[in-house]
Amino acid sequence: MTELNIKGIVLRRGDEAYEAARRGVVWNGRKPKRYPAIIAKVADEEDVVTAVCYAKANGLKISIRAGGHSWAGWSVRDESLLIDLSAMQEMSLDAATGIAKVNPAVKGGEVLDPFLAENGRFFNGGHCPTVGIGGFLLQGGMGWNCRGWGWAAENVVGVDVVTAAGELVHANANNHSDLYWAARGAGPGFFGVVTNFYLQTWERPKAFVQSTYVFPLSCYEALFTWLQETHSYLSDKIELVALAITPPLPPEIEHEGPALVVHALAFVDTLEEGTAILLPLENCPVLDQALVHVFAAPTSLAEERAEQIRANPEGLRYAVDNAWVTGAPSAVVPALQNSFLTLPTPQSFTLWFSMAPLRELPDMALSLQTEIYFAIYTLWGDEADDAHCRGWLAERMREVEAVSDGLYLGDSDFGERPFKFLANANLQRLEQIRAQYDPNGLFHSYLYAK
Ligand SMILES: Cc1cc2nc3c(=O)[nH]c(=O)nc-3n(C[C@H](O)[C@H](O)[C@H](O)COP(=O)(O)OP(=O)(O)OC[C@H]3O[C@@H](n4cnc5c(N)ncnc54)[C@H](O)[C@@H]3O)c2cc1C
Repeated sequence: MTELNIKGIVLRRGDEAYEAARRGVVWNGRKPKRYPAIIAKVADEEDVVTAVCYAKANGLKISIRAGGHSWAGWSVRDESLLIDLSAMQEMSLDAATGIAKVNPAVKGGEVLDPFLAENGRFFNGGHCPTVGIGGFLLQGGMGWNCRGWGWAAENVVGVDVVTAAGELVHANANNHSDLYWAARGAGPGFFGVVTNFYLQTWERPKAFVQSTYVFPLSCYEALFTWLQETHSYLSDKIELVALAITPPLPPEIEHEGPALVVHALAFVDTLEEGTAILLPLENCPVLDQALVHVFAAPTSLAEERAEQIRANPEGLRYAVDNAWVTGAPSAVVPALQNSFLTLPTPQSFTLWFSMAPLRELPDMALSLQTEIYFAIYTLWGDEADDAHCRGWLAERMREVEAVSDGLYLGDSDFGERPFKFLANANLQRLEQIRAQYDPNGLFHSYLYAK
C-alpha cells in the first residue's frame, strides 16, 4: 500500500502507538474488539480530502471519529481507514447572523458553550459537556430542553462535507439539500465527512431555575403515573427528567441506595418567572414522602453540567439502550418498573425524559420521537461483570418493547439491539441519497453484530 501523506499523524496496525490510539478514540471504558487498518489523525480539511481519496484508491472503507462519545464505539471498524477529527478544533461566530461555524470534534459544553457565552450567544448542545458536536448533531442531538426547543439539529443551517467523490461541498437548504437533509438524523450511518457545522445560535437564557425532588423507590407507581398524566401541561421552558439513580445525599437524610429523582430545569428570564412555571410540580401526589424537596432554586449551566459529569464518570464500562415510549400510564408504568427498581450496580441509572407535548419535526432524516424518552445507562467497573450487566439491560429492554415505538441513535448500540430509528419513508429516502452520494459504499454504514 502507498503512503498516506497528510499533515496529521498516520498510524497503521502494528505501529507502536496504534493500540493506545485505537483505544483512545472511544470514551466508553468498554473498548471494541475491532481493528482499523489505519488511523489518520487529520490536521485540517485538506487532510480529510487526502484521506478520503487515499481510502478510495486503496480499497479501504472509511469510518469517522469526532468527539469519541458514541457508547458503541461506532468509529472503530475492522480493516477501515479511521479518520480521527479530534485535532481539528476551530470555531468562529458571525456576529451579524449569529451563525457559528464549528469543527465536529469540538466539545459542545466544555469548549463551544464558553466561546458562545463570551459573545452572549447560546446553542442547545448535549447535557454532558464532553460530548463532541459531530456525532451528537448528526443523530439529531438531544440537547438542553429538547422538549421545548426541539432537537439541536434543527438549528444546523449548513454543513461542509467531504463526499465519497473526494469533493468538499457545502450543503444547506438550497445547495446539496438532500445531503443537508441526511446530515440531520442519519447519525453514524452518514456517508461523508462533515468538516464544519453551521449553527444558528440564540441569545442566552438569562436565568436558570431548578426544582429537585428525591423519593424512595416505593413511590414509583404513584410518581410515574402522575408524571405521565401531567408533563404535557408544563411550560415548554422546562426540561423535565425523572431518574432512578443513587444520589449523593447528606448523612442526615437517612436513605441508602437508589432513589427516584425528579429534576426540572427552567430556562427563563428571571427567578420569578422560573418560580411561577415550576409551581405545578408542587402538586405531586407523593410530595409528603420526598426525602429531598428543593423548589425553584437558582442554578447555572455549570452546576447542571457538574452533575452530568458526576453521573457519567469516565473509565467505567457502559452498556446503554433506549426507547421511544408510548401508551397509557397503565401500560407504560408497569413496563418500565423493573428498569427503575432493580438497577444492577450502584453507578447505573435509568432515565425518563419528557418530550411532551410533541413538537412537529421539520423535514429532516430524524423522524421518530414520542412523548417519553426512556434510556438505561448500565455502568460497572470489572470486565467479569460484562455478561451480568449486559444481560440485565437486554432483559429490561425486552420488557419495554411492548410500549416502545423505536429508538434514538444517540444512546443505542446496534451490536446489542438493533431497532427502528427512523420513520420507514425517511429510511428509504436516506438510502436513496446514500446511493447517490456513495454508490460504492466507501463509508461504513450502521454497525450491526456479525
Ligand atoms: C457521557 C455521555 C453523555 C451523552 N449525553 C448526550 C446528550 O445529552 N444528548 C444526546 O443526544 N446524546 C448524548 N450522548 C450520546 C452522544 O451524543 C453520541 O454518542 C454521539 O454520537 C457522540 O458524538 P461524538 O462526536 O462525541 O462521538 P463519535 O464516537 O466521535 O462519533 C460517533 C459517530 O458519529 C459519526 N460522526 C461523528 N462525526 C462525524 C463527522 N464529522 N462526519 C461524519 N460522521 C461523523 C461517525 O459515524 C462516528 O463514528 C452522550 C454520550 C455520552 C458518552
